[in-house]
Amino acid sequence: MTVNLTFHGAAECVTGSCMLLDTGRTRLLIDCGMFQGPKTLKALNYAPFPFDVAKVDAVLLTHAHIDHSGLLPKLVRAGFRGPIFATRGTRDLCEVMLADSAGIQESEVRHLNRRNEQRGLKRVEPIYTTSDVEPTLRLFETVKFNVPHDVAPGVEAVWWPAGHLLGAASIEVRIGQGDDPLTLLFSGDIGSGRQPFLPRPSGPVDVDHVILESTYGDRERIDLELDARRQALAVELRAARAAGGPLLMPTFAIGRAQELILDLLAVMDAEPDLAADIFLDSPLAIEATEVFLQRGWNADTGDNPFERLRHAARLHHLLRPQESDRLERLTGWHVILAGSGMCDAGRIRRHLKRLLWRKEVTVLITGFQAAGTLGRLLAEGRTAVRIQGEDIHVGARVRSLDNYSGHGDATDLVDWLKARGAVAGSVLLDHGEPTALATFAARLSGLGYRAITAGLDQTWALRRDKAEPVSRGPARLAPGQATRPDWHNERSAFLASLNAVLQQLPGDAERQALIRNLEAALTSVPPEARQ
Ligand SMILES: [Zn+2]
Repeated sequence: MTVNLTFHGAAECVTGSCMLLDTGRTRLLIDCGMFQGPKTLKALNYAPFPFDVAKVDAVLLTHAHIDHSGLLPKLVRAGFRGPIFATRGTRDLCEVMLADSAGIQESEVRHLNRRNEQRGLKRVEPIYTTSDVEPTLRLFETVKFNVPHDVAPGVEAVWWPAGHLLGAASIEVRIGQGDDPLTLLFSGDIGSGRQPFLPRPSGPVDVDHVILESTYGDRERIDLELDARRQALAVELRAARAAGGPLLMPTFAIGRAQELILDLLAVMDAEPDLAADIFLDSPLAIEATEVFLQRGWNADTGDNPFERLRHAARLHHLLRPQESDRLERLTGWHVILAGSGMCDAGRIRRHLKRLLWRKEVTVLITGFQAAGTLGRLLAEGRTAVRIQGEDIHVGARVRSLDNYSGHGDATDLVDWLKARGAVAGSVLLDHGEPTALATFAARLSGLGYRAITAGLDQTWALRRDKAEPVSRGPARLAPGQATRPDWHNERSAFLASLNAVLQQLPGDAERQALIRNLEAALTSVPPEARQ
C-alpha cells in the first residue's frame, strides 16, 4: 500500500501546520493552520490553497492554536463541507479563537484598505470573516482521547494527550482494514511533561512513521517547573518595579495568559512589595479563561487552579476598547497583559507604540517568537522598530523568559519518541526553523532513526518501512524565505536607521548630501524595471 503525504505548511518554519494525506481512497487534512511571521509568509494566507479543497473528505485537528486551526474558516469558505474531528477542549477553544481571528482579519483589512486607498493601491479581501466561523463550528465532530474513531473509509484515528494545551493531541492514523494497517503518528505540538497543570504526553508504540514537531530541536533544559519559573518571574518583576514600571507582557491568550496571571498573583502574594494592578487587555484571553474555568486544565486532576482567576481583587479584565484606552492615563507600577503573543496583531501593538520609547518601561516576552515577527525583532534587541507605519525608538528594557513554553525541549522530544518504541519507517520532521531542524535531524540519525526534513509542498510516498520523496509543488516561497526577515522587515530597519543618521549629522548640508546620494541610488533603477 502506498500513501502520499504532502506538507502544505509548517515545513522549514513553525507556523501554518497543514498536511494532506491521500490514501488512494480518501483525502484528509491534518490541521489547517495560519502562517505567522514576515509579511511575505503571511501573504500565503491570502492565496488559494495549493490543493483541491473539493476533494478533501475530512480534517483531523491536533489542537486549537491558530497556527494549527486558523485557516479552517478559509477552508469552509472555499467549499469544504466534511467533518472536522477534534477533542472537546479543542473545539471549545476554537469557538473563541476563530471568532477572534475573524475579527482581527476584518479590522486589519479595514485598516489596510484605508491605507491602500490613500496610496492608490488595490483593495484586498479578508481571508475570512465572522460569518464564516459559525458554519465552520457546525462541522466539528468531537472525539474522545485514547479510543479509535472511524474518520473516513478505511481510516481509523486515535487522539492521544500531547500535554501542550487543553485538548491538545497527537493523532495516530491507521490506514487499511485488517490486523496490519499502515500506522502514522502525527505528533502535533508536544509538551514537556514537566509543565504544571498539563498531563504527560502519551501515544501508541510501534508505528510505521512519525511526523514530529521540532520547535525546540536545538534547545536544551528549559526550566518549566512551577517553582523555577515563578522564581524567574519574581526576578523580572523586581527589576521592572525598580525601573519604575509599567510592565508590558505580550501574551498568548490561550493558556499562557492564564498561567502567567496565576504566577503573577503567587509572586505578588509572596512579595507584597511587588503587588500591582494586573490588566488583562485581551477579550480572547478573557473568553478563554471561561473555557478553562469550565473544563479545568488537566482532566486527570480534580481541582481547577484557575478558580483563583475569578476572585483576584487586583486582576482587571478589559473587554471594551475604551477600557483599554483608559490605561493611557495610568502611571507608575502596573502590569498589562495583551495579545498577540508575537506582537504581530492585537491590542499589544497600541501599547507598544505608546510605551516602547520610555526607559522606565519593561517589556517581558514569554514564548516562542517566530522569525520576522515584531516580538522576535524586539527580543533580538532592535533599537528601533516600525509599528503600523510609525518608527518607534526602543527605550524600554526588553527581557525574555523561556520558562513558559508549551513545547518540550530537544531531550523531551527524544524521550517522547523513544517511548513510542520501534519506528519501522521514517521520522519526518516539521514545525521547526532550519537550524532547529538540522540539529535535531542529526541527533535522531545518531540515535538510529531515519530522520527526514520535510519541504514546503513536498509530497512523500509512505510505505511500511520507508518514505520516499515523489514530487514538489511550484515554489510558493524563495528558499529560506519562511524564516528570514523579508523586504518589509528590511525597509523598516532601513527607514529607522536613516532617520537616526539624519538626526546625528551635524548640519542640514550633510543631511541633504545624504538624501541626494540615496536619490541617485533610486534613479539607478531604470523606468522599464518598474511596473
Ligand atoms: Zn501549539
